[in-house]
Amino acid sequence: MIDLRSDTVTRPGQAMLAAMTGAETGDDVWGDDPTVLRLQARVAEEAGKEAGLFFPSGTQSNLAALMAHCARGDEYIVGQAAHTYKYEGGGAAVLGSIQPQPLENAEDGTIALERVAAAIKPIDDHFARTRLFALENTIGGKVLPAAYVAEATQFAHGRGLATHLDGARVFNAVVASNQPLKALAEGFDSVSICFSKGLGAPVGSVLVGSKALIDVAHRWRKVLGGGMRQSGVLAAACLYALDHNVARLADDHANAARLAAGLAQIDEVKVASVATNMVFAQFPQADCAPLEAWLKERGILTQMLYASRFVTHLDVSADDIDTFLAAVKGYFKR
Ligand SMILES: *Cc1c(COP(=O)(O)O)cnc(C)c1O
Repeated sequence: MIDLRSDTVTRPGQAMLAAMTGAETGDDVWGDDPTVLRLQARVAEEAGKEAGLFFPSGTQSNLAALMAHCARGDEYIVGQAAHTYKYEGGGAAVLGSIQPQPLENAEDGTIALERVAAAIKPIDDHFARTRLFALENTIGGKVLPAAYVAEATQFAHGRGLATHLDGARVFNAVVASNQPLKALAEGFDSVSICFSKGLGAPVGSVLVGSKALIDVAHRWRKVLGGGMRQSGVLAAACLYALDHNVARLADDHANAARLAAGLAQIDEVKVASVATNMVFAQFPQADCAPLEAWLKERGILTQMLYASRFVTHLDVSADDIDTFLAAVKGYFKR
């Protein structure tokens, strides 16, 4: 099957599985797993932060970070389109007693700083205490403009707010902008990075930040049920991904551009945007369900909605993109 639904669908290949099988392990709840310690130290170092912490998922890593920054009755400012706000079951409010203050994301994923300024609550018992400003990079596949990130994080710190980056796909931004991770993490007090998206590991996220912040997040990880034992088998997959699957994200970006260019040639399809490894396109509403079925019969998995998202990853080749495009063209010519 050619699976364009998400970059989470990749399966660990033989070499990654061999790295996992060969991992040296220990009980990480006791702080004894050398492979987990190696991963945490390496990601922290690459991101220019003091410490790292391994999590089973990006959702839990983001939540533990929010809980480390904000106490009960505090507030975080976040984009309406942000994963932590929109796609994590409201965890900050449900489990963290943190009030989200969502603000509109502009087309490029930024949040206007005048709006942020206006949303920061005065110190007064009527209001939640505004503590944190959270951004996401990439967001909807787009790389946040570097100048905006610098300005936004300085602004937040100037107003006494901490800063968090949901960097689930920050390595796509690293490759697309040709900047080191350290540069993209600069200005953020914490960054959460997923290894189970484009990097191709089966499981795992790492949160990085100051030693003091990571110590607090460590306690919340325990409370959230995220303490794992011989998790070096999982960390080994993430280390393998860091060594082998970062630079190749450029192939995914090229394949997404190829996919977008091909779809743009089809009269019935409107390509809304393409950046890094994601293409958003609009299809006639009436064609969505039949086209999805047509593609599935031809071994291609998609989620066809009026505004459909196609995601490239390490299990999709340039030939697969051509197969997909030929099938879509075939559908509209039938
Ligand atoms: C996938 C994703 C997450 C959460 O990661 P899981 O490992 O699926 O919990 C967080 N933020 C963004 C932007 C994501 O794409």
